Amino acid sequence: MGLGSYESKRLPSGSVLVIGAGLAGLYLALKLFPRKVYVLTSKRSSKGAASAWAQGGIAAALSKNDSIELHKNDTIKAGDGLVDPEIAKILASEGPGCVHDLSALGVPFDKNSDGELSLSLEAAHSTARVARVKGDTSGAEIIKVMVSRAQEAEHITGIIGWRAESLLTDNNGGVTGTLARRDDGAILSIEADITVLATGGIGGLFSVTTNPRTARGDALGMAAVVGAQMRDLEFVQFHPTAIDIGRDPAPLATEALRGQGAILTDSNGIRFMDKYHKKGELAPRDDVARSIFLEIESGKQAFLDCRKAIGDKFPINFPTVFDSCMDAGIDPRNQLIPIAPAVHYHMGGIATDSYGQTNLNGLLAVGECSAVGVHGANRLASNSLLEAIVFGDRAARYINGKNWENKHSQKIKTQPWLSMGKEVSHSLRKAMTLNCGVQRNDKKLNTLINHINYLIEKVGPANPLVASKMIASCALAREECRGAHYRDDFNFTKKNAKSSYITYDMLD
Ligand SMILES: Cc1cc2nc3c(=O)[nH]c(=O)nc-3n(C[C@H](O)[C@H](O)[C@H](O)COP(=O)(O)OP(=O)(O)OC[C@H]3O[C@@H](n4cnc5c(N)ncnc54)[C@H](O)[C@@H]3O)c2cc1C
Repeated sequence: MGLGSYESKRLPSGSVLVIGAGLAGLYLALKLFPRKVYVLTSKRSSKGAASAWAQGGIAAALSKNDSIELHKNDTIKAGDGLVDPEIAKILASEGPGCVHDLSALGVPFDKNSDGELSLSLEAAHSTARVARVKGDTSGAEIIKVMVSRAQEAEHITGIIGWRAESLLTDNNGGVTGTLARRDDGAILSIEADITVLATGGIGGLFSVTTNPRTARGDALGMAAVVGAQMRDLEFVQFHPTAIDIGRDPAPLATEALRGQGAILTDSNGIRFMDKYHKKGELAPRDDVARSIFLEIESGKQAFLDCRKAIGDKFPINFPTVFDSCMDAGIDPRNQLIPIAPAVHYHMGGIATDSYGQTNLNGLLAVGECSAVGVHGANRLASNSLLEAIVFGDRAARYINGKNWENKHSQKIKTQPWLSMGKEVSHSLRKAMTLNCGVQRNDKKLNTLINHINYLIEKVGPANPLVASKMIASCALAREECRGAHYRDDFNFTKKNAKSSYITYDMLD
């Protein structure tokens, strides 16, 4: 679609354009004080952010029984050889301070009778370290507080209801802002000295996902076509226990349920995890997801049995899951919950250093759309909200420590404006789930890439198509099983683990 006429805005010199109002974008914006920040977001409601959907909570070494070393080591272990140890150390050591800061900003974390943070145990954590807010409503409560603080902050201005669709660049390849579109078709060009991508994940590229609809890899597509480097894109985490009631997105049965003793069973109530992993229900996420996938593929159904472990405490301790089940006519206090794996989290993303800086001048990325090397091939549960605040804070410190004024050369280039339409989107999502899901192989991935090429020929390189093509190509190139990436035609793990890096021009 041609651009036609559009409104143009130049942000004041030295101010920051943040694209996305989840935890990463909002925390960064708050921490940029007193620098002027403009937060652009596609959704009027904070429900468009995955951050507001988080049920488990936020992991950090916050108790006497825990340590930075332990949290760092658990993070490295979960990442299956690809976590950068220095980055894991930063996450673990700066994490507790950032969580206390959230508390100081007004987040009402759950406390025990001694007034200390009440911490839950989640899969692959060696001790209880997940801080929660009002049971399973952690994300919603955290975002409620962040939105209030951002609305009160004089240095923050919201540009709400606009979807960023491409990045502006100068004649040196630096990023100079964005072109955004509103639902009514209006177009806005925003020029800025500093642009930060904080658009979240990619679940919406798949047909079975727990992610909000906005999570469709826009940042990856936009950044890739102007030359940003991507890292570890093949690593997509499947949440093992999405509630399988045919809803899009699929509601989630939080990991904390298994942390509190819920078990996985077949339709006869017979437990199956012990035949797949010695840690049973508390095995790493990808192992649990694959076990459930195999059970379902073998013709059986899979269920989460919370009757004994949670029982009557369900409505109080897990109100979100309880409501989702009851809406579907399932009473989890005395019935099994049908479950299936669903795309949940993207470990890969736009490659950054530990301050959010990408390879492009003027462009930073934070939160789920970035890849700093902290999750490797698999994310440790509840480390992503922590990543959003730790690396959001660091990006703010970096930006505030540098002189950015009028740094761009004058000529501004715009990227082509592309829209996919519902039919192409449906076709892409179906193909991604079928061919780039829990079990992948050469045949499936080549079929997928050919299909994406066909869709690109039809509508041009729209952001979700670019993002999907890069993910599929990285999945094809990684000829081994590692973390969340499972190839049934390369059913082994190679000795030397290396992150993958890709730029869009490397693809044919
Ligand atoms: C159901 C669910 C439960 C989870 N539970 C946990 C948990 O317990 N603990 C944990 O640590 N992690 C959890 N996660 C993961 C975690 O929520 C996310 O990884 C994290 O919140 C990502 O934060 P973010 O700020 O990067 O992105 P988001 O919170 O997703 O925010 C992205 C923002 O960008 C906006 N946006 C997207 N595209 C555009 C565009 N093109 N233009 C403008 N705006 C755009 C969105 O509207 C939104 O405001 C969960 C995820 C889901 C889906």
